[in-house]
Amino acid sequence: MIIVLGLPGSGKSTVLSLLQDKSCKRLNYGSLMFEIAQKEFGISSRDEIRKLTAEKQKKVQAKVGEMLANEKGKVLLDTHCSVSTPSGYLPGLPNKLLSKLKVDALVLIRAPIDEIMKRRQADPTRKRDADEIGKLHEQDSFNISLLASYSALSGAPAKIITNKDGKAKEAAVELDALLSQ
Ligand code: AMP
Ligand code: MG
Repeated sequence: MIIVLGLPGSGKSTVLSLLQDKSCKRLNYGSLMFEIAQKEFGISSRDEIRKLTAEKQKKVQAKVGEMLANEKGKVLLDTHCSVSTPSGYLPGLPNKLLSKLKVDALVLIRAPIDEIMKRRQADPTRKRDADEIGKLHEQDSFNISLLASYSALSGAPAKIITNKDGKAKEAAVELDALLSQ
């Protein structure tokens, strides 16, 4: 499994949509969580998941983790290093969950923080958090620390790809190169 992580607004989904590689089964953690949380907690948008209590989020996260642990073959998972919740940063891949996955590579998509802010403001399809710049820097550095721990715990190499404005194609080429290895 190749796990692609990134802050909301890093352009993760855009980069994934530009990949030439079609050999991987694509899974989106947020979509799988939303299907469950919609039924169990009656929410109506994926941006309400991170506002649920940490306990509820962890319960849904664990259910998705069990589904993923049964995945065989080449899977590309679109998810988050951390989720910014009212109780603090929730790790996207807590060890109990990560240890059950067969991880081949970890990829963190990053972008300059000012560009992330502008992308969030310009996205009408989502209820992105209007975080202040300092908070985004904080979560970005927290994510790099988490990436290192996910790598150490799983033994999988960690790659950081920068997705600057207007350069999503280049970021996708970099990720394609990794997928073809
Ligand atoms: P996305 O569309 O990728 O932004 O995902 C939608 C939502 O799913 C996020 O805002 C989170 O609330 C949730 N989510 C995605 N991946 C994870 C994860 N690994 N752990 C917990 N929540 C997650
Ligand atoms: Mg996305």
